[in-house]
Parts: sequence; structure tokens; C-alpha cells
Amino acid sequence: MNAVYVRVSSEEQAKSGYSLRDQLQVCRNRLLSMGFTEIKEYIDDGYSGEYLDRPALEELRSDLRAKLIQNICIYDPDRLSRNLTNQLLIADEIEKSGVNLYFVTGDYDASPEGRLFFSIRGAISAFEKAKIRERTQRGRKAKANSGKIVHNARPYGYNFDKDTSMYVINEDESKVVRMIYAMCIEQGMGARTITLELARMGVKGRKDGKPLSINCVERILTRDMYYGQHYLFRQSVSKTGQNTREITDNPREEWIPIAVPAIVDYETYQKAQEQRQKNKRYAKRNTTHNYLLQGILYCSLCQRSMTAYARPGQRKKTAPKMYYYYSCITNESGNYMLEEPCQCRRIPANEFDESIWNIFVNSAKGSDNLERYIKKDVVKDYSTEIDKLSKLESDLFKKRSEITTWFREDLIDANTAKKELQGINRELTSVTSALNALRHAQSKLTITGPTILPEEILAAKTFADKQDILRRSGIKIYAIRHDDSVEFEFKKTKT
Ligand SMILES: [Zn+2]
Repeated sequence: MNAVYVRVSSEEQAKSGYSLRDQLQVCRNRLLSMGFTEIKEYIDDGYSGEYLDRPALEELRSDLRAKLIQNICIYDPDRLSRNLTNQLLIADEIEKSGVNLYFVTGDYDASPEGRLFFSIRGAISAFEKAKIRERTQRGRKAKANSGKIVHNARPYGYNFDKDTSMYVINEDESKVVRMIYAMCIEQGMGARTITLELARMGVKGRKDGKPLSINCVERILTRDMYYGQHYLFRQSVSKTGQNTREITDNPREEWIPIAVPAIVDYETYQKAQEQRQKNKRYAKRNTTHNYLLQGILYCSLCQRSMTAYARPGQRKKTAPKMYYYYSCITNESGNYMLEEPCQCRRIPANEFDESIWNIFVNSAKGSDNLERYIKKDVVKDYSTEIDKLSKLESDLFKKRSEITTWFREDLIDANTAKKELQGINRELTSVTSALNALRHAQSKLTITGPTILPEEILAAKTFADKQDILRRSGIKIYAIRHDDSVEFEFKKTKT
């Protein structure tokens, strides 16, 4: 049920503009405009706003307590009472009982009384919210100080014991955690490599059979909790909108330390942090290396692209030598991990870059011929598809004229004919547009050789020059490594 409360005092009755009928009208309209139809009217006719004991107001308040009302519309807070404290009191009572309160305020909003009313109400509700937050926060902190987990964040490697409010070690997952630390410390692997390796081994994370994510591996390698020292209240979350929140780091002194079962010892944890620092330094050099064939090199086995990566050699006191490779993307990206892995092997980048560039140089000098390496039949030819579709198209035309004939000879009725024709026409439209697209593509298949002058190749000295020439040549290189050689062929991509 919805309610309208109206009041006029005896003095107001004399004045115009405050009539009960006007108040009722605008309040009812306000509720109706929001789709609330079942409306009960509470009318105090000739009562002063000075006191709260008015018959209709009392009835309204008892209906509120009985939870009979969902929405209330009142002309302005002045109708509730003439003094601010009582206005606030009743408005508060209304909202506390879970009822939406609407005013048809108009001028009242802007008046000094109105501003005071609304600003005080705003302040009160903000104060109450803060009080509630403070109360729950205090409870949470007390819980944390007694050594209990306040919120189960479901960290990998642990289960949550509700009775003791504490994490307990998950035997299976903790084995994976220890393995991750071993991979990092003993083999110098970073989170990315570990993630790939785990996926390759078939280790599954918690989400519907997917491999562990790189973020999860990162967390396992960095969180203090894995050596037994956990901190609560490291961060706070504040609501910044209806569905948005902001996470901020709390100052160190606000953290609450709490002991959890350790999965690795502190020394292991420290070693992993040192290894990660080293890996970061290698990673910087990794990205600065120039790979000549990046972007144009493909795996001949699976036809997917090959990506470049660097790996440090044996660790010594000094910085290790870096080795640069190309490797099939199925081995380097987690996205491909659950498929059958490609059996190809990584190709040493520097040597291969050099041998490919030499082919260009030698053919520029006339001692070799670039075309010799280019596979001839790779340009996609659409003639078979065009033939197939043309056949289908003419069949459809034939069928269409057949149906017209059958209809004319009264072999089928109008309805059946119409249905059949609609189906055929639909199919014809798609076949025709596919044919047009293919014919257009076919007409563009005129092969032109690379427009690179021999002098350009011979003049190229910098990495950028060479890379530019390779890219402009329009070739793709498909390669596979055997025991002591790399077999490759060029394919032309430009037409
Ligand atoms: Zn491959």
C-alpha cells in the first residue's frame, strides 16, 4: 500500500494555496507518476503542526510500524511538523521502516528551512553509515587481532576451516606451490615460463579445468603467507559508485600480522624473490634484442607464427650470456596449452637471421636467386570454390523455374510454391554474394615480384634497414629445425 499524508492548520485553511485538495492532488499525482496506484489518504484537517498528536499522523505511524506501507508522499516536511527536530524524527522513522519518502517540495527545497532540513538529514545519514562501518570494521579488527582470518580470500594452496576461521593446507595444491618455488629457484623460471610448464604438465587450476593463471603463479611466488606470515588489512576497498570500488594500500602500521600454516620456508621464499629480481634484469635485455624475422616467421609443422624469446645461459657470478630463439607460439602462449602441443623445436635466432639475410645479399649480388626459395603454388586460388558455387547457383535457378512450372501446371498449391520460392531466394542471395566476393578476390591475384632493388639490399647496414627490406619483400618464412640444420621455404604474401 502507498500513502499520502496531508495537513492544514486552521489558520492555513483561511489562506489559499495550501488547501487539502491541492495537497492531495499533487501528492497523488506524484505517486501515480511512479506507477504506485493503491493509495491510502491520511488527512489531518485543521491541526497545527506544533504537536505530533494528530489522529491521521498517529494512524500513519501505526501503519508504518505494521509494515503496511511501501511509499509515502508528503507535500513538504512542514506538513509533518513545524519544528525541525520533529520533522527529522518522523522522516527518520519513515525511512527506518524501509519506506520510501517523497516530498513534492518545489519551492520548499530552495527555502532556508528546506535547505536546513535536507542538509541535516544528509549529515545524519552519512554519520550513521560511518558509524555502521566503524562498528563492523572494529569487529573485523578484533577478530584479526585474535589471530583469525576475517575474510576467506581463497588463496591457492589452502582451504578455509570455518570452525577455527583459519587457513589449512590443501595437500594437493601445496605440492604445486612447492613445485612452483622449485622451478623458480632451481631453474630460474619466471612466472610466465612456470605457467606454461604447468599447463604442459596438465596441472589444473581451480576454474573449470583451466590451467593455473599467470596471476595465480605470481601471487604464489610473492605473497608472504606462503612462508607463514600473513597480513590482514593491507588494503582497503571503498565504494566509489554503484558498481565501482577503489582498492588502496593501507599504511604499514595498520596491517595486522597473523600466522598461517607455511607451505615453504622463509629461506626458500627469499631465494625466489632474489631470482625474480634477476629475471627482471634479464627481461629488460630480452626485449631490447633485435629479431630480424619477427612477424614474418612461421612454424612449418603447425603453420602458426613463431615468437622470439631470450633465455639466460648458466648462472655464474657475472651476468650470464643470453641466448635468443624463435619458438612456435603453441609452446610460448598459454592459450594453446591445452591443445596437442606442436613437436617443433626452437630455432637459434641470430644464426637463422644471418642465413636468411645472406640469401638476400647473395641474390642482390647475382650469386643466388631469391625466387629459388619461393614456393610457387602458395597464392590462394579460388577457382575451385568459384566452380562449386557457380554450379550451386545454376542449380538453384533451375529449381526456381521448376517450381514456377509446377505451380502453373497445378501440381503444387500457391502456399507450397511460395514457401519453396522463399527458401530458394534466400539461399540464392547468399550464394550470389559469396560468388561476387570470390570473383573479386580472384581478379586481384596477379603476382608481382618484390620491388626491391639489389643496390638497396647491398646498401642496408642497420637492423632497421634490413628489417624494412624483409617486410617489403612480402615473404613469409616457414621453418622447422632438424638436428643440425633449419629447413625453410618462403611464401609470398603480397599479390
Ligand atoms: Zn608449431
